Amino acid sequence: MRRSYLVALFLLIILLSVATYIMEEVSMVRTNISKTTTYSGSSGTNTIQETSTSIIIWKFKPTTTTLTSGGNVTLIVVVDNDPDPNGLLESAWGLSILVETSSGYVLFDTGPSPSILKHNLMELGINPKQIVAVVISHLHGDHTGGLPYILKVHPGIPVYVPGKDSGYLAPEIRRYGGRSVPVYNTTRIMKGVYVLGELYGPPWEESLLIISDKGPILLVGCSHPGIVRIVQEEINFTGEPPRLVIGGFHLLGYSYSECVRIAEKLVDLGVGKIAPIHCSGATIKEVLDKLYPEHYLEAHTGSIIRI
Ligand SMILES: [Zn+2]
Ligand SMILES: [Zn+2]
Repeated sequence: MRRSYLVALFLLIILLSVATYIMEEVSMVRTNISKTTTYSGSSGTNTIQETSTSIIIWKFKPTTTTLTSGGNVTLIVVVDNDPDPNGLLESAWGLSILVETSSGYVLFDTGPSPSILKHNLMELGINPKQIVAVVISHLHGDHTGGLPYILKVHPGIPVYVPGKDSGYLAPEIRRYGGRSVPVYNTTRIMKGVYVLGELYGPPWEESLLIISDKGPILLVGCSHPGIVRIVQEEINFTGEPPRLVIGGFHLLGYSYSECVRIAEKLVDLGVGKIAPIHCSGATIKEVLDKLYPEHYLEAHTGSIIRI
């Protein structure tokens, strides 16, 4: 009797040690991959938790296990020019960002090819059928190229497109079994999710606006109409600057002083975090990193940003 009691106690101790070890491993992973940044915008202080991908994080499939509630928003850069440091996702010239909102997954742009989008979504553990809407910023192929994949696996999903260019985009979307929804003016597409615009570049371009508990989040495609103009449009609509603006700023070939002027303007407008990716070019990143490090958010294929 006494012997079996001791064996049971021994087993219990081993079990508790193993459980503690696992818990410590998980929390260690979480601490390693997370960096919390507090910053002040014109409308108050906010906190963005930046999480970079790692080999360990993929084992935990954070995209499915860290679903947040209470209005929290998660952005995942699915495709960008800059590579995933872990080499798990493919990168290419183009843009695609997945947004997890309380209303479901919204895919903003689709990158340049169906195979890259498919590969990266699979690596991220995202079932494309969970995506409830696609928003296409503009008709350039590096933003629309992945559409055939989404439409094949999720026919009938609404695809929001710039209204005045829908004549070009709608037949292609129909051909793959999709349903295009032209947007001419800023439109609410679901709770807390708006298509902003359209504005003329050329071409016609729309942006994605998420109203999170922490404030507006603005996603831009290539910013052909101008990044400052798009941010101004967002402020006109919501009355407050975005806590985060992320996407292509179309500043390749802009001089250092031109990039300084644009960075200054964005900061003056009260933008919180600024994450220039895709066609933004290296100069604006350098300027932000040097002059406005508290506003600069570095991002690349595989970046996960929680707000
Ligand atoms: Zn582009
Ligand atoms: Zn473009």
